[in-house]
Amino acid sequence: MKIESVTYVERAAPLTASELTAALSGIDIVLSEPQDDLSKGILSRCKALKMVAQRAVGYDNVDLDYCNRSGILLSNTPGVLDNATADLAFSLLLCAARRIVEADRYVRAGLWHGFESDLLLGREISGKTLGIVGLGRIGEAMARRAWGFGLKIIYCRSAHKTSGATEIELDEKDRRLAESLGARRVSMNELLSESDFISLHCPLKKETTNLIGAAELALMKNGCILVNTARGKVVEEKALVEAVTKGKIIAALDVFAQEPTVPPQLVKAPNTVLAPHIGSATDETRLAMAELAVSAVLQVLQGQLPANLVNPQIFESTVNKL
Ligand code: NAP
Repeated sequence: MKIESVTYVERAAPLTASELTAALSGIDIVLSEPQDDLSKGILSRCKALKMVAQRAVGYDNVDLDYCNRSGILLSNTPGVLDNATADLAFSLLLCAARRIVEADRYVRAGLWHGFESDLLLGREISGKTLGIVGLGRIGEAMARRAWGFGLKIIYCRSAHKTSGATEIELDEKDRRLAESLGARRVSMNELLSESDFISLHCPLKKETTNLIGAAELALMKNGCILVNTARGKVVEEKALVEAVTKGKIIAALDVFAQEPTVPPQLVKAPNTVLAPHIGSATDETRLAMAELAVSAVLQVLQGQLPANLVNPQIFESTVNKL
């Protein structure tokens, strides 16, 4: 099949349900982004849709079950954004630990009058323990950066439940990470209580929604720096606001539960560093993501199975409809 026309929808803010439905009316293939709400309610109204090419690795904005049931192919962009996103996560950690945003504001406000030995004292990074929740592609890139900065690394991945108990079964990857980075896989509770800094890198799905709530925040060390470049809803935002407001933790955030809304308490708090979902935002990476998304579409149109198809099991039954 050949592409007959391409429509570009300009949007500075997320489209409303009716705008999105109108934009997708009669469209066979959509190139989407995390801000596009492709939930069942919207997808079910887009009768012509046969492929969603998501320009992101996370696809929590797309109802995958509905896509599978309705024969809609879904592709994403894994791998090409690992370094950019880990760079941002590590930058957020450094900004929070060394108070770089505060320091910038201080200089700009004309408050600097000379060297002071206790001016804007921050936290040393090296020798501290970083807990990484989700040691996948981006989590591993974060671990490599942490190793370079002399941090001790502990991490957790998805745990396997055996007869009610949650067991950690070390695999080849865990052994490789232990050998190359000295990284140790631990339980979530150990990670929460032992880490000086915690960085979230798991996908948003049913099991990880509100993974970090009031109980988990309470287990963290006082003054723990929590970095979130995963998805806002991995953290229960109300509990996060409370922990920040009480000074229990420092939050360095690229993602929020209801983007682009940022709770005003987080904006006011001195112990936050805030970014507008720019994890993968470098020229090189955004281009690579676009190319990967488009190449998945072109492959499908040529009857080939793209490596980055999330639901390859419906490829054969769907590809002929395009
Ligand atoms: P990935 O390679 O699939 O890695 C995900 C990791 O999370 C895996 O190690 C997985 O465990 C772990 N995990 C899954 N469920 C878990 C749970 N319940 N508890 C703890 N760990 C769990 O994904 P990725 O490519 O690194 O991307 C991760 C996420 O980053 C994306 O889904 C996206 O939401 C986010 N992201 C954000 C930005 C941004 O702009 N801020 C940019 C890119 C990505 P196993 O190893 O056991 O499978």
